Amino acid sequence: MAWIDLDFPHTATPSDRVGRVLGLNPGMMTGPGTNTYLVGRRHPILIDTGAGESEYPLLFQKYLMQRGWRRPERIILTHRHRDHLGGVDQLRELFPNVPVAKMLYRDYDLPEDIGMLGDGERVSGDGVTLVPIHTPGHATDHLCFYLEEERALFSGDLILNGSTTVIPDVDGDLGQYMDSLRRLQSLDIRRIYPAHGPVIEDGPAKIQEFIDHRLMRERQILETLGGGASTIPEIVKIVYADVNNALHRAAAMSVHSHLRKLKGEGRVSEEPVAGGPSRWILV
Ligand SMILES: [Zn+2]
Repeated sequence: MAWIDLDFPHTATPSDRVGRVLGLNPGMMTGPGTNTYLVGRRHPILIDTGAGESEYPLLFQKYLMQRGWRRPERIILTHRHRDHLGGVDQLRELFPNVPVAKMLYRDYDLPEDIGMLGDGERVSGDGVTLVPIHTPGHATDHLCFYLEEERALFSGDLILNGSTTVIPDVDGDLGQYMDSLRRLQSLDIRRIYPAHGPVIEDGPAKIQEFIDHRLMRERQILETLGGGASTIPEIVKIVYADVNNALHRAAAMSVHSHLRKLKGEGRVSEEPVAGGPSRWILV
């Protein structure tokens, strides 16, 4: 599968302000792995920490040495998912007292001493200014970071390159996700640095593509309901006919996210069925 891409470079320097170290956690959900970004000309700020893979700290230190850097000045996190904050403890062992912050929102079971970072609370480094943008939808605590000097966006899991974003049943919300994408459209964005996959050079085109993709799926699901399908497995079988069965669970979650959104908008209703999947009906 191209998404997993085992040849993805372990480190890269996509611009003079941005370095990238791969989390070394490839998989179905993470593609080549989680990108962690070092931002700044010197004394870099680290965005995300990977999943906590055992080979990551060594790779991270090698890249720091290569750039002539001693340590990250601080760590900021896009959201609470394991593949983004799993490396916090490893990095604290290497770099004692490095401050760590994220948007604290409905969190439990976080590593200790994580500071609060709110929407719009600028983080400054050497030659860089990062503006946190609260962008829920994939996760309620999700932040993107806008790099003013490059007009670039660190998109976390809101926008990926090589796959679409998962909207989890718990904590995900497709309506919020679409609102977050539209909020990004109001910014002057050139490049996007996603948490998974290579750099996206044409940010606005990618954001539009992600919006269009969801709208297309929504139309398909409404048509399928109009055509007589009513349960999620029935809808998946029709809408995802050309997709490998192994991905049907993820597809079911995606269809569910659409149905929840449509239900919230009063466009479909849900009829629970004892011992089976709910029936969904056009209103
Ligand atoms: Zn995530």
